[in-house]
Order: sequence, then structure tokens, then C-alpha cells
Amino acid sequence: MIIPIRCFSCNRVIASDFRKFQKKMNEIREKRREPTPEEISNIMDDLGLEKYCCRRMILSHIELIDEIMPFS
Ligand SMILES: [Zn+2]
Repeated sequence: MIIPIRCFSCNRVIASDFRKFQKKMNEIREKRREPTPEEISNIMDDLGLEKYCCRRMILSHIELIDEIMPFS
């Protein structure tokens, strides 16, 4: 729903990195193609997300807040 502020496993702050991650992903999608796994990996490396616990937080997150908000 909303990206957790911190990684569940190591407690690193990840919420601020998620916005930057989404922005870079959208820049690639504007070129009318999906980002390749290597590009996604490079984006996370650039953001300093080195541990796989933090990477899974970003990768597996589905942003649903905009779809749920009308019903609250
Ligand atoms: Zn972590």
C-alpha cells in the first residue's frame, strides 16, 4: 500500500530511495520499453541499496494507496 519507511530486516531507511527508484524507472518507461533486469540492478546500486533485504523491499512493493484512497 504505502512503502514502509524502513527495511523490515535491517532497519535501513528505504522510503526516500523508493521515490528515486520510481523516477528512474519511469524515465526508462518513457522510452516505450520496460527496464531490463540489469538496468533495475544498476538503479538500485546507484541508490546504495546493496543488501538484498532492502532490494526486495523496493522490488516487491506495489503502490496501491492511490486506488484505496477513494474508499477511505
Ligand atoms: Zn535491509
